[in-house]
Amino acid sequence: MKDYKEILKSYNLKATPQRLYLIDEIEKSGHIDIDNLYKSLKIVFPYISLATVYKNINAMIDNGFLTEVKIPHNKTRYEITKNSHAHLFCIECAELKDIIVDNSWLINNTSKNSGYKITNTLITFEGICQACQDKSK
Ligand SMILES: [Zn+2]
Ligand SMILES: [Zn+2]
Repeated sequence: MKDYKEILKSYNLKATPQRLYLIDEIEKSGHIDIDNLYKSLKIVFPYISLATVYKNINAMIDNGFLTEVKIPHNKTRYEITKNSHAHLFCIECAELKDIIVDNSWLINNTSKNSGYKITNTLITFEGICQACQDKSK
C-alpha cells in the first residue's frame, strides 16, 4: 500500500485513522458506494456516523484526492483520483470497471462542433459483463 499519510498531506488533508481506513477500503474495492464504505468502517469504528463518513469523503473530493463516479439509477461510487478513464457498468451485477478509451476524436469533434473548450469528459458504458453473459447461456 502507498504511503497515504504523505499523499494526504500533499493534498492538504489531515491523515486521521478513519481517513486512512476509508482510503484503504476504497483502494481495495476500486470503486465503492457510501453504504458499503459505512458498513466496513462501522466494524473498526463502531461509533462513527454516516454524516462523518460523508464529511470525510466530501473533504477528500473537494481537494481532488477522491473522485465521484455517478451511475444513472445507481448509488454514486468513489474512487481514488486516477488518470482520465472511462467506466464500464454491468446492469445485471452492478460491477463497475475502469477502461481506458481513446476519446481524442470525440473531444476534438465535439469541441469543433460546439465551440466549447472541453476540459473533462465523463463516459460510462452500460451493458452486461462477460460473467453475467456466461451465466445466462
Ligand atoms: Zn455482470
Ligand atoms: Zn474508475
